[in-house]
Amino acid sequence: MGRESLNYRRGRSGRPYRRTKAEVFANETHCRRCGNPVDKSLPYKDPTTGKVNAWSKSYGHKVELDRNGNPYVGGLEHLHCNVAAGARYVNAKRSRKRLSAPGGTDSSHDWS
Ligand SMILES: [Zn+2]
Repeated sequence: MGRESLNYRRGRSGRPYRRTKAEVFANETHCRRCGNPVDKSLPYKDPTTGKVNAWSKSYGHKVELDRNGNPYVGGLEHLHCNVAAGARYVNAKRSRKRLSAPGGTDSSHDWS
C-alpha cells in the first residue's frame, strides 16, 4: 500500500522538483553526507579522461523515494556520497532478506 502513496506517484518529475534542485545547487556549498565542500564547477564527466567525476555535485533525497520520501526534500551531495548512500540502502534491504532465510548465518557480516 505504501507504493500507492501520493508522494510516490508525484515522483521525480515536474517543475517543483527541478526548481528545488536548482535552488540547492545555487544555495548550498557543502555535502550533506560528509560535510566537506562541494566544488560545483566540477563537471559530471571529466572532459579530458571521460570518466565520471565522483566529487562533482549531485542532488540527494533525504528519504529514499520508495520509503515515501518527500521528493522535494533533499540537499547537495557529492556524487560519490550520494551513490555510496544509495548502495548502502540497497545492500541493507538485501541483507535483511538474506537474514530471514532459514539457517542463514552469514559470517561476512559484522553486526557489532
Ligand atoms: Zn560528500
